Amino acid sequence: MTIEDQSWTRDGGASLSVALQVLINGPISRSDIARRLDMSPGSLTRLSTPLIDGGLLVEVGERADGRAGRPSTLLDVVARSRNFIGMKITSTEVLAVVTDLRASVLHQRSAKLTSRDPSAVIAVIADLVQTLAARVPSVTAIGIGLGGLVGADGIVESAPFLEWTDVSIRALVEDATGFPTVIDNDLVAFTEYERWFGAGKGLQNFAVLTLGAGIGYGVVIHNEIVTSVDSGIGLVGHWPLDPFGPVCPAGHRGCAKSVLEQGAIVRNVSAVIGREVTYDQALDLAEAGEPAARRIIDEAGAGLGTLLAAIANLTMPQRIILGGEGVRLVDVASAAIQEGINGHRDARASAIDLVATSGDNTEWCRGAAVLAIQKYVLDK
Ligand SMILES: [Zn+2]
Repeated sequence: MTIEDQSWTRDGGASLSVALQVLINGPISRSDIARRLDMSPGSLTRLSTPLIDGGLLVEVGERADGRAGRPSTLLDVVARSRNFIGMKITSTEVLAVVTDLRASVLHQRSAKLTSRDPSAVIAVIADLVQTLAARVPSVTAIGIGLGGLVGADGIVESAPFLEWTDVSIRALVEDATGFPTVIDNDLVAFTEYERWFGAGKGLQNFAVLTLGAGIGYGVVIHNEIVTSVDSGIGLVGHWPLDPFGPVCPAGHRGCAKSVLEQGAIVRNVSAVIGREVTYDQALDLAEAGEPAARRIIDEAGAGLGTLLAAIANLTMPQRIILGGEGVRLVDVASAAIQEGINGHRDARASAIDLVATSGDNTEWCRGAAVLAIQKYVLDK
């Protein structure tokens, strides 16, 4: 029997735990797995042997473990044995990648939307899937992320960027492509990537904050992502940051949306320098020392510091991962961010471990691919 004709692990349970350890942490020795799962070496051997015989796990060489005696054999998965497609639907385009079993991006494509009508978007998705599927031996499942509220049944309950209400995207994509599909909020997808394969790997508690067209927040507690019926509304967007800041469309003065969103930063910098600039131009001007742009960017940085301090104070994460297409602010406003943090954190509190991702658009797609990988691996 090969990996192609069996489910991830046939009996789930302890076998699944072993396979997951290898998927997420491999190459890894049997003794490391046994220690992580608090399992005896005998039980581990009994569980891993059928997984190796079935082709799910492979032995990939040896590593000396520093103790006397034989070096230990390492187990791994064959990452290229399975391929997944991950997509992000924005208000203007669909971004797509095809990945391996560990969500490493093999190929990417994108296509502009000419209409936000669901049937037009499905046609764009089907076309991208066909193009990407032709680049790999086979596709196991599709994952889709978007900014909005998504029900467990794969129905997009509301997606303001797309002006969608109650659209059964999962069923439509499955009909159009023939591949099993999973859809969820894009922040959930982003956070799941970080939990399994990214900067949150191995941490019990961490938070994710994304900067861009919106402000996104995700939190993992005891290695489980926290979700609720409100995941997808963007609750953190109205968190108060600056009592003297601009006003958001909902009427809050100085909330995160009004201070930190890309659109707000573009508006605020354009207003003070008297001409229209893009987000990157606004950051370039601040970096070059243009005083008015510098002041707005530092106010945004101070606001971000205030928000990071609040996250650290309230959810006590081991790390906060910053991502999203607007993440360059973290570099340009680093001093103001630190001041904002210091102003809202007890002097005895430990330094916040901040990690910024590249901000590359494929990060969202990689997250969506992890939704598909989890559907396959965990049989969700
Ligand atoms: Zn607001």
